[in-house]
Amino acid sequence: MKLILLGPPGAGKGTQAAKIAERYSLAHISTGDMLRAEIASKTPLGIKAKSLIDSGELVPDEIIVGMVQNRIQQPDCQNGFLLDGFPRTIAQAENLLGFSDIDCAVCITVPDEEIIDRMARRRVCPVCKNTYSVDVNSAEHFFCEACGAELVARDDDKPETVKHRLDVYAAQTFPLVNFFREKGLLEEVCGSGTVDEVAQSIFKILEK
Ligand code: AMP
Repeated sequence: MKLILLGPPGAGKGTQAAKIAERYSLAHISTGDMLRAEIASKTPLGIKAKSLIDSGELVPDEIIVGMVQNRIQQPDCQNGFLLDGFPRTIAQAENLLGFSDIDCAVCITVPDEEIIDRMARRRVCPVCKNTYSVDVNSAEHFFCEACGAELVARDDDKPETVKHRLDVYAAQTFPLVNFFREKGLLEEVCGSGTVDEVAQSIFKILEK
């Protein structure tokens, strides 16, 4: 299976992608995670990407496309892959279809108000990258259940950046919904339920 997971920031793509990848033994390719790894290693690409990501802008198509094209040639992608956060523009999608076929693009839909609330609550483990939803009204510090590291908020999850990311999504990424619909590849699921409910809806679609 060669899958794409579409949806606005905060729709739960990363969480669902991990579940789908595990169930079907697919390589989970998150362009956001790949960019954050570049930032952590302070590579020239990471240094260039950081300011764009922190301000809620997209990283240029040619950088991302090259990164994904290389990644899907790795041996772990031979059994199939799941793209999480790519493509994000029509140009990226056209490039992708030029170097790979795709079986299905699943779009997770969530209303904007719910996204803003989810992202205010999102915390990530800086070590194992697990994502958690915390009570923002609590004065407590939060720690990763897997490794004990203190959880942090992503720089691009600040409310003003989230609003901008939603505008960027509407202008540049949302048109992909029609793009894949016209190609007969689109499936849509409602992302408002619990993590397991959304996962079950996706599994049902994929096993059709
Ligand atoms: P994510 O973790 O998928 O929310 O991605 C975090 C940020 O990385 C995005 O807001 C973009 O700045 C950048 N990014 C990730 N994937 C892409 C992509 N396919 N095209 C352009 N920028 C991307």
